[in-house]
Amino acid sequence: MSPPMHILRSEFVASAPSRAQWPTPDLPEVAICGRSNVGKSTLLNALLGRRGLARVSRTPGRTRLINFFQTTLASPQGPRSVLLADLPGYGYAEVSRSERAGWQAMMEEYLSRRENLRSVALLCDARRVVDPRIAELLFDETELAGYLRGLGRKVISVLTKADKLPKSERKPAAQVLSRVLGGKAVICAAEHGEGVDELWQRLLLTVNEKTASEQVSGDERLIF
Ligand code: GDP
Repeated sequence: MSPPMHILRSEFVASAPSRAQWPTPDLPEVAICGRSNVGKSTLLNALLGRRGLARVSRTPGRTRLINFFQTTLASPQGPRSVLLADLPGYGYAEVSRSERAGWQAMMEEYLSRRENLRSVALLCDARRVVDPRIAELLFDETELAGYLRGLGRKVISVLTKADKLPKSERKPAAQVLSRVLGGKAVICAAEHGEGVDELWQRLLLTVNEKTASEQVSGDERLIF
């Protein structure tokens, strides 16, 4: 069990349809990404420690916005602030081809160009992971994980809604997910607060490392 994270404050920063609206990259950033209905808003609210800050939405269509939040956590070294980027969900059946292309262009721009981005949490619904059609069901996630690694991004895979599986199946499912996406998957059931502290710990490990572009720029403000 990870020690509980103490969240001092969290706030919404910006809703960005394009790069011009991204917040100034003067804090380390982590991103949360996953298909629609994976439990992203629920997990984000749990990470932010504020119910309802990231809307739990059941209506598809908001595929063109990146929502940014800032959160400050207590740590033995003092308060530490992090930006959290809520990347738009994908996999909505009713989305048009042009909207899908727009989503892809925006994701590519963000993932390849955001200089303060330290890691991406890639969420997968536990029930998809235990489905015999896993290769098909996690095709997009596998592609995305490969794309991110190609960019040199750190990927943290997350098994969401783990409470939907019997207890004995959770660890084996996480092991499967770890094998499929690489790295060690975090088991979460955000609706019950499970796995949220461990995910924060894993994200913070990456927050403490500077990205290659920051090392080149030598911008001391970015050191955490
Ligand atoms: P999003 O579309 O990815 O933002 O997903 P939401 O957070 O809106 O969640 C989609 C649905 O899954 C909602 O009905 C949530 O109540 C449910 N859900 C989210 N997290 C959990 C969880 O940890 N356990 C269970 N059992 N249900 C969850």
